[in-house]
Amino acid sequence: MSKLRSRVLVVSLGGTITMTGAARGGVSPTLGAADLLQDLPHLSAVADVESLTLMRKPGASLSFDDLGMLAALLVERLADTDLNGAVVVQGTDTIEETAFALDILVQSGKPVVVTGAMRPPQAAGCDGPANLLSSVIVAADAASRSRGALVVLNDEIHAARFVRKGHTTLPSSFRSSHGPVGFVVEGQARFAFPASTAPGPRRESKGRFAPVALLSIALGDDGRMIGAHREAGYKGAVVEGLGAGHVPANLAPLLGDLASSIPVVLTSRVQLGPTLTQTYSFAGSEMDLLERGLISGGSLGSAKARILLALLLGAEATSDEIRSAFDASAHS
Ligand code: ASP
Repeated sequence: MSKLRSRVLVVSLGGTITMTGAARGGVSPTLGAADLLQDLPHLSAVADVESLTLMRKPGASLSFDDLGMLAALLVERLADTDLNGAVVVQGTDTIEETAFALDILVQSGKPVVVTGAMRPPQAAGCDGPANLLSSVIVAADAASRSRGALVVLNDEIHAARFVRKGHTTLPSSFRSSHGPVGFVVEGQARFAFPASTAPGPRRESKGRFAPVALLSIALGDDGRMIGAHREAGYKGAVVEGLGAGHVPANLAPLLGDLASSIPVVLTSRVQLGPTLTQTYSFAGSEMDLLERGLISGGSLGSAKARILLALLLGAEATSDEIRSAFDASAHS
């Protein structure tokens, strides 16, 4: 009996993978999903692929509205019983955010893979075609189901909730704190662990994002931006602290004050490792800040913590719901 062919939707948003030479020099997004697929004759052996060009933007210009629209489209299209999975092609600058938002908003169980390229199509050794092929392989494979959103580049399969962009130019830029969850080898997705049968933590959301500020703290910061953020009307804030979640001592009362009016989540500017909760007790330490009402971002990087908080506030979650969502998501 012949195996049913998989069907995969490829949605393109732009990014380096779609960029060609611009009149002023450099590259900018011009290609659509169909152009990218044209360069991949091997795809026909993997799946039937449907292409959709939603936009042609660099990753940095994607908006919350774009993410909401993309998530709604995927929820609707993945309900189609003929579709096995979806691949989103976009700029690598914001893959962390898109993939994590889709992890929360698209819980169909079918694979959703986000990919891009570090080198544009005309560069020697461009990585776009290989990344797209590997992504379709993963999206078409039943073994990729029920793993949350995935990020596939450089033949590595990462879980959206852990992956970070770790280098500005290398094709091996994407890394996860616990390593990839699998690899693409000889044209097949190979996962290191079985998919979880238990549903992941459900974070109810209506796909609306509230404005959330991101404050990155550095040595010698005098905190003058903290008041400005409040006045600007943000509904929440993520404070990207130093080390395991630390700020200069003089900022602690200002952040405590901010946390009494809006939810403030504490993350770290360090690439890998969680923020701590019970190790340091000096003024401005994680213990001091948590006692002053900040919420621990745990192992979530700042970009992801901001997405989660924006979605929770967009769904009008209460303070308790926000705390428990961070507990559930941040400490895994
Ligand atoms: N460097 C980025 C990329 O790899 C540019 C972008 O995010 O659009 O796609």
